[in-house]
Amino acid sequence: MNTALTTQVKELLSAPKNCVIIGHKNPDGDAVGSCLGLDLYLKSIGQKSQVVMPNDFPDFLKWLPSTDTIFNFEKQNTQALLAIENADVIFTLDFNSLSRVGEMQATLEKSEAAFVMIDHHQQPDNYALITYSDTTMGSTCEMIFHFITALEGQQHITPQIATLLYTGIMTDTGSFRFPSTTAVTHRVIASLIEHGAKNAEIHQNVYDTNSSSRIKLLGVALDNLVVLEKYHTAYITISQKELDDNNFKKGDTEGFVNYALSVLGIVFAIIFIENKQENIVKISLRSKGDFSVNEFSRTHYNGGGHTNAAGGRSLLSLKDTVTQFTSILPNYKDQL
Ligand code: 5GP
Ligand code: MN
Repeated sequence: MNTALTTQVKELLSAPKNCVIIGHKNPDGDAVGSCLGLDLYLKSIGQKSQVVMPNDFPDFLKWLPSTDTIFNFEKQNTQALLAIENADVIFTLDFNSLSRVGEMQATLEKSEAAFVMIDHHQQPDNYALITYSDTTMGSTCEMIFHFITALEGQQHITPQIATLLYTGIMTDTGSFRFPSTTAVTHRVIASLIEHGAKNAEIHQNVYDTNSSSRIKLLGVALDNLVVLEKYHTAYITISQKELDDNNFKKGDTEGFVNYALSVLGIVFAIIFIENKQENIVKISLRSKGDFSVNEFSRTHYNGGGHTNAAGGRSLLSLKDTVTQFTSILPNYKDQL
């Protein structure tokens, strides 16, 4: 984080403020880790702080420190609204556009609080008073580490904060294997371990807590894998019925798309997941090399993200979504 930004934030927080910290809808490890990590840090320097999430987060993150303090906008709506109403400062973490908070968007747009965006997604919207955006970062948690060290120094990283930030860096970098993982990332991780993050334990808590139904659902997903060799592309579909038959719980399909990307020669992988409740097909896109799934998702799926990982949605049926996808692929043959 550069000195101009550090000075701006220090000025904003020079007196105690009511801070609210917000992550994106369907919060992942990076969103939960960064929001709670920042929350604990702000409290430790005498600020009032409250994390509000648009909706629930997956079970495999429930063991994280202080998750019980989060207000879920869907379930604790009155408390969440009150916190936002009383906020002097609103931090928005791990997203680049207010549309990413779902139902909460209107409430945030009405707020007169000072907004601070901390995020690593491409093409950030310009809604914040202070924007700390760095698209070279593999995770928002890594940015929170730099934020805390720029403001106060590493002695403010407690074991709880270290655990939260380690978790988000680990999940967003695919356990330190995506190209966004740098030497600096590894230095940050080393420091987090020195400050009390128990790396092996964190890894087990996140990845080795599968329900048998999730593994069965993975079997269904793998069975549905279609490889289009000509386009170096592979896709997976999961219907609502397949989710229902396998006792689907939030977060169960996390990471499935990576199996499609792991097929030899594949540079573009995509998963289509039917959601009858929201009447959409949720789409996750991944790529290797220069093919930008951020651009692809922005163009076709009202979404976005990063060059190699993005999300979006389709309003067509599952079948029509796939038909449309295979019909537009030839336009990308040269890039694939
Ligand atoms: P996932 O496929 O895991 O849902 O998302 C992959 C990446 O794209 C994540 O960094 C996520 O935050 C981002 N992302 C997912 N959906 C959207 C979307 O609708 N818009 C934007 N801008 N980013 C998204
Ligand atoms: Mn992230």
